[in-house]
Amino acid sequence: MPGRERSDAAASPAVRLTGWGRTEPSVARVYEPADPGQLGVLLKEAPARGIIARGLGRSYNNAAQNDGGQVVITTRMDRITGFDEGLGIAVCESGVSLEQLMIRALPAGWFVPVSPGTRQVTVGGAIAADVHGKNHHVAGSFARHVHWLDLLLPDGQERRLTPAGDPRLFWATAGGMGLTGIILRAAIQLTKVQTSRVRVDTVRTADIDEAFSYLAQTDESYTYSVAWLDCLASGPHLGRSVITSGDFAEPSDLAGGDRRDPLKFRPVARLSAPPACPPGLINRHTVALANEIWYRKAPKRRTGEIQTIATFFHPLDGIRNWNTVYGPAGFRQYQFVVPFGAEPTVRAAVERISQARAPSFVTVLKRFGPGDDGFLSFPMPGWTLALDFPARTPGLARLLAALDEDVLAAGGRVYLAKDSRIAAGLLEGMYPRLSDFRDLRAEIDPGGLMASDLSRRLGL
Ligand SMILES: Cc1cc2nc3c(=O)[nH]c(=O)nc-3n(C[C@H](O)[C@H](O)[C@H](O)COP(=O)(O)OP(=O)(O)OC[C@H]3O[C@@H](n4cnc5c(N)ncnc54)[C@H](O)[C@@H]3O)c2cc1C
Repeated sequence: MPGRERSDAAASPAVRLTGWGRTEPSVARVYEPADPGQLGVLLKEAPARGIIARGLGRSYNNAAQNDGGQVVITTRMDRITGFDEGLGIAVCESGVSLEQLMIRALPAGWFVPVSPGTRQVTVGGAIAADVHGKNHHVAGSFARHVHWLDLLLPDGQERRLTPAGDPRLFWATAGGMGLTGIILRAAIQLTKVQTSRVRVDTVRTADIDEAFSYLAQTDESYTYSVAWLDCLASGPHLGRSVITSGDFAEPSDLAGGDRRDPLKFRPVARLSAPPACPPGLINRHTVALANEIWYRKAPKRRTGEIQTIATFFHPLDGIRNWNTVYGPAGFRQYQFVVPFGAEPTVRAAVERISQARAPSFVTVLKRFGPGDDGFLSFPMPGWTLALDFPARTPGLARLLAALDEDVLAAGGRVYLAKDSRIAAGLLEGMYPRLSDFRDLRAEIDPGGLMASDLSRRLGL
């Protein structure tokens, strides 16, 4: 029937979308297919402003928005179609979330190979941003664990990509922020675990230099590690931190009840943030107080504490819509990485932030291991610092622009999945393979069908 050749996308509603930071809203036609088969027709009918995929919308700004164009939400494409319990390989549609994968795979003793700070991201979003986790120094980022992915190219062709068989398109797609096409399915190599608990060691450091040296000395001893930093501390306390490092526990590490069900994973019903948080709730005074309490309540040194996956990996997932506590103006995430040896740049960044009294509620320092071949993948060997600031912080634009320059001068880069404001001209210096990425896009998408607010702003 000819009518079947048309998707119902033309009738899809216009919806106002933002990223998780709730800044820079834009309006797009939104289509939510349950069947990847419907997408070929959709590409043919795409509006002049183009089309972009969107998963769970956990990127912080507008990578998954397309003002005046089409957005394809993948979360109804959420079938896990195969799971080899012996090899730990999961085959799934791209709208499957990491939480779904955990629920399916943990009872058989497998965990996602890389988990960002939230499990509410889709497999498509994890590949498109080539996300990293607390184990980057040993496991690299997400794409390293993808055996293959099926990509719907802008010309409507579907192609199965492997890192060995089609390295150019595979590595442009991994970290490519949805701009090479729509990822339909993927096969992911999971990681073997004996339990669903993590054995965690905690250490408090007096300042950022102690944090640098502790992480450098101990990273090889742990699979997962990260430092939380007090970004408002100053003087001798500059960058004081609480470092948590861990490995999945063995059954013998667990207490009686837990030992009987060592792979238990039942994400609990989550709390909600109050419906209307007053603007200005997160400010330099409340963050300074929260940081003080957080630092003081952490033990100076504690070993062998058993934590759940939710507590260790995804503490923020405990509160649904925690992003609304920043009020209607939202917040800006900022994450950079600089090579090893550029510790002074990280220290100077923390100094600038502390001097500006810019209140970052969640400030995280970590060491990355080697990066992968992703043209626009963020991680490189070095130090990464992630921060989030209320969007209305006075002087924030100037502060972040100064940090951009310092990061570039140190040979580093900022993370596109979190970016909301970097000047397009700085990007080439940060991502040396950007021109290769643009060349490939020109070949596979000469009409610029794949487009997002992020790609237009940065000319990706
Ligand atoms: C609390 C929190 C903690 C976080 N911690 C980390 C962290 O530790 N490490 C880290 O790396 N990131 C982290 N992030 C960022 C997050 O992991 C990434 O932005 C991820 O891409 C979000 O996935 P999503 O499914 O929500 O994708 P979206 O935000 O919807 O989209 C992100 C990008 O992926 C593209 N995309 C989505 N689906 C597809 C598809 N099927 N085909 C092609 N392209 C697609 C979109 O076009 C867009 O460019 C965190 C985010 C939050 C909210």
